Amino acid sequence: MTEIYCTKCRKKTETSSEVQDMTDKGRYRIHGDCIICETHKNTITGENWKVKLHSKGEVLDAKKKRKKTATNKKAKKLGLKILDADDKVQAYIKRTTTPPSTSRLESNEEEEIPAPTQGDSSVSEYFESIKLYAIARNKDLDHINIKVAFILGLKLDYAKRAKEFGFKKPLKEIVEHLVGDRY
Ligand SMILES: [Zn+2]
Repeated sequence: MTEIYCTKCRKKTETSSEVQDMTDKGRYRIHGDCIICETHKNTITGENWKVKLHSKGEVLDAKKKRKKTATNKKAKKLGLKILDADDKVQAYIKRTTTPPSTSRLESNEEEEIPAPTQGDSSVSEYFESIKLYAIARNKDLDHINIKVAFILGLKLDYAKRAKEFGFKKPLKEIVEHLVGDRY
């Protein structure tokens, strides 16, 4: 009896009603039934129905080789997918793979959301637009960028007073101080 891999048992099992014949293409074949589940099994052998025995090392090497081939195939497919992608995807990939210095030049992030300035509005009105700006930029009100934007947009005399009060204080306190000064 020859041990043949059984697809149902998912392991090599003994074989009953074993037949040695040849395939249409002239290859040596053994087929028969699994002695455990009776599933019909098939295997191609070496010349004269000699079953090739592989050492553990050979089996592992074959496994590694198959894995490598599969990985290469996947990589090639992914590469082709990237080449096939539309312009938007290409631009995105380019942006995420270019160094920060160049991507900053290309990106319009700073221009997309211009920081508000006080102009003719009151400090509290101006503070409301800064709040919206912080939300749009997805930043905390006390994030240094928001604070800097707020100070830069202030009218000069307010900016001076804010400086005297202390930039390190929470933005809300700075605003309260500036608003309080007016009354
Ligand atoms: Zn079986």
